[in-house]
Amino acid sequence: MNRTGSNLPAVGEYNQTVVLDAIRRRPEGITRSELAALTALSGMTVTKVCRRLIDAGLVDEHGTRANGPGKPAAIVRLNPGGGFAVGVHIDPAAVTYVLVDLSGTVRDHARSGTPTAGDPSAVIDEMANAIEALIAGSAVDRSRILGIGIASPGPVNVDDGVILNPPMMPNWHRVALRSALAEATGLPVLLEKDATAAVVAELWFAGPASSRDFAFMYYGTGLGTGLAVSGEVVRGTSSNAGDAGHITVDPGGDVCTCGRRGCVGYLVVPRTLVKRALGAGVLTAAEAGDLDDTGDVDAAFSRLADLAAAGKPGAAAILDDAARSLGRAIVVIVNLLDIDEVIFGGPFWAPISPAILAALPEAVSGDSALIPPHPVRFAQSAVPVDVAAVGAATLVLDNTFSPRPSALLLAAE
Ligand SMILES: [Zn+2]
Repeated sequence: MNRTGSNLPAVGEYNQTVVLDAIRRRPEGITRSELAALTALSGMTVTKVCRRLIDAGLVDEHGTRANGPGKPAAIVRLNPGGGFAVGVHIDPAAVTYVLVDLSGTVRDHARSGTPTAGDPSAVIDEMANAIEALIAGSAVDRSRILGIGIASPGPVNVDDGVILNPPMMPNWHRVALRSALAEATGLPVLLEKDATAAVVAELWFAGPASSRDFAFMYYGTGLGTGLAVSGEVVRGTSSNAGDAGHITVDPGGDVCTCGRRGCVGYLVVPRTLVKRALGAGVLTAAEAGDLDDTGDVDAAFSRLADLAAAGKPGAAAILDDAARSLGRAIVVIVNLLDIDEVIFGGPFWAPISPAILAALPEAVSGDSALIPPHPVRFAQSAVPVDVAAVGAATLVLDNTFSPRPSALLLAAE
């Protein structure tokens, strides 16, 4: 994804992000003349920007490369320890915190139970304390922390930094987390929907051969969908794009929270699969536990996945059904956006991934409703653990690095 810059003085900030982005994508280092060729900026602009990035500690010089008969050219590289970002992922079952460096590598992480948000100030205190403990424990210079990213179940109000009323978190209503955490920590804070944060992470870590048009199926307590089209995150008018949970995949199926029958976001989530396993006698009442307790559902869901992996027919049939339900929804998404890749991740994805990925490709390619003539690939996330938390931290890095028209407007004052 090469971008080119402009040599106009008013867009200095934009050029800086263009150069930084190009440097980051070459971990082995790059010379200034290569940067000029790659970004279409003048040699003088590249030299000036590199000087500024080196002074800021974001980039360093690392050896030289022979370049024809002239004097060897200095190689510039990203300095991973030049900046850090905190990522926070709020899930109905747990809050995960990560500290990542400029290269996106996780340096430290922590996890705690999710506060019930009956008292929003207690939630904010708890999260701010956990963030401070993570930073203090990491021995990272606090002045090097660029900011905090929060990934939350939707819907969210991104402009105001407010978590609205996530269906799986009944006590969370209009929690103004962004401003409260910014005030408590003194750091800039960004908020994004969890599945969208996962897409940001996926694009950040994507190799050159990665798809530019994909859906991210985020499998947590609920099912979220994040979207990328032409290599850009799809956010929509209110940053709530991608809610595919109410696509009907079984008109005779169970009633969803929305009142309709057979919505994919109801049929395939862990709680429903555990409920089905209990009803079919695949899990005993003791194994299924309390369906309204996230810890019990987690344990019962792992048990169900183990039984399916061991070949227990009832368990395998439940996961096979889930794969078919997912497949029908994926066909709708593929048709709508003409995407060629579907990526899976999220906290509950790993246990069922072998069973789902075994059945899904045929369910999708064999569906008579599938329109685009190209193959659809199915992949695991490039971030195998804590994708939403890493994605939340990547929001901060992305904001620092990625050249965007919005950044251009801000710089051209
Ligand atoms: Zn529904």
